Amino acid sequence: MADTIAAISTLMGRSAIGILRMSGEDAVSVAEKVFRPDKGRPLSALPTHKLINGCFYGAGGELLDQCVAVYCRAPRSYTGEDTVELQCHGSPTVLAAGLRSLFAAGARQALRGEFTKRAFLNGKLDLAQAEAVIDLIDAETEEMMVNAAAQLGGAVSGRMEEVYSALTDVMSHFHAVIDYPDEEIEPFELLQVDETLRASGEILRRLLKSFERGRVVREGLRAAIIGRPNAGKSSLLNALLGYERAIVTDVAGTTRDTIEEKLLLGGVLLRLTDTAGLRDTGAPVERLGVERARAAAEAARLLLAVFDGSEPLTEDDGAVLREAAGVEKRIALVNKSDLGCVWTAAERERVAAVFPAVLPVSAKEGTGLEALSEAVAALFAEAEPAPLGEMITNERQAEALSRAAAALDRAREALAAGVTPDALLTDAEEAMAAIGEITGRSVREDITARIFERFCVGK
Ligand code: GDP
Repeated sequence: MADTIAAISTLMGRSAIGILRMSGEDAVSVAEKVFRPDKGRPLSALPTHKLINGCFYGAGGELLDQCVAVYCRAPRSYTGEDTVELQCHGSPTVLAAGLRSLFAAGARQALRGEFTKRAFLNGKLDLAQAEAVIDLIDAETEEMMVNAAAQLGGAVSGRMEEVYSALTDVMSHFHAVIDYPDEEIEPFELLQVDETLRASGEILRRLLKSFERGRVVREGLRAAIIGRPNAGKSSLLNALLGYERAIVTDVAGTTRDTIEEKLLLGGVLLRLTDTAGLRDTGAPVERLGVERARAAAEAARLLLAVFDGSEPLTEDDGAVLREAAGVEKRIALVNKSDLGCVWTAAERERVAAVFPAVLPVSAKEGTGLEALSEAVAALFAEAEPAPLGEMITNERQAEALSRAAAALDRAREALAAGVTPDALLTDAEEAMAAIGEITGRSVREDITARIFERFCVGK
């Protein structure tokens, strides 16, 4: 077992409970130096996996807190090592003094993700599951949460094991042929091998296909608000940020005249750009803004076009209509509904001809946003959602999947061309190695290290 690590696992702020956590060879003996159970017997004489009341002492022997300890003996713990959790009152002062006390008793500060890394190294979790732990902690939407939770439960790992074990069977067949040249592979067996390679490739490709959506779900879908000046674009963005949870402001890459915000609308995470007003202008600086607005609109997967319903359509609105026609998913918002809409039937038709959805809103009063949220949800409802947990959100996994799928294609080609068994084996082995990287069967230490750097201290 490894040296003993300790960390504060909960947020450092006033709260009901704060947890200190330890794992390693000396976790129990370190805890015994600082924690005295009310029962009068040492921690190690009491049952594991149970809540134990007692007193927690500081490095100088002073009483820090009355708290609860739980200890788990290896290998029945999160990390697979002896672990102790001290559940204190949620005071940053208690937790900081408590951590110092654990250090004085022989533990050292845990690094980011070190608990989960140990769980991985001890076979408690595979690498895909370990990544799901941090994805779950980082989840910004329910969709991400549900997906990460299912991956933690082994949704991706299970698929990988399925493919890995099918390929292992194929390989053992071919190894036999190489080792015993007198053995022939029957034609029907070759068909079976081909079928295994095809079915495995299909599983990998299906997972890979989910990556595009996975990326959108994780990073947010590009969306832009366009409209002529004074239509109410900024007011709408503010209303939306107030209406839905604003997640990150000031996303990097923000330019002077376009603002990008991340927000959740209709369950879809959007990277919403508020653009400079679209209008015909001679002023060079403003023209630049208009150009940027056009570029943002063109890069967008979703366009929210804002019109001012309290005034007739103008020529600049005409430019908005033309711009919007080029974006597949678009919603028209007829703003300032609190002032009433002055549009004629012809004007309404002109807008409806371009937009399948035309919704009245008032950015000022925050009305109509619920319908907007529903319209966004409807536009991005998946026709065929990936099975639970089988949405790949991780670049590393996607890259390995794509290598594995390509190697399987080559193996099938080799088979069809009647090449020697060892050629096929090379490709199949490459596919297996790539799959092994996903679950962590075969992965380089530097890659593992990078994965756990994404974690917080104490996890
Ligand atoms: P932008 O130039 O398109 O970003 O427009 P702004 O958001 O700056 O709004 C232009 C003007 O319209 C401001 O005076 C806003 O207060 C006003 N405005 C925006 N939305 C509404 C609305 O829903 N109702 C009313 N009555 N005024 C609004």
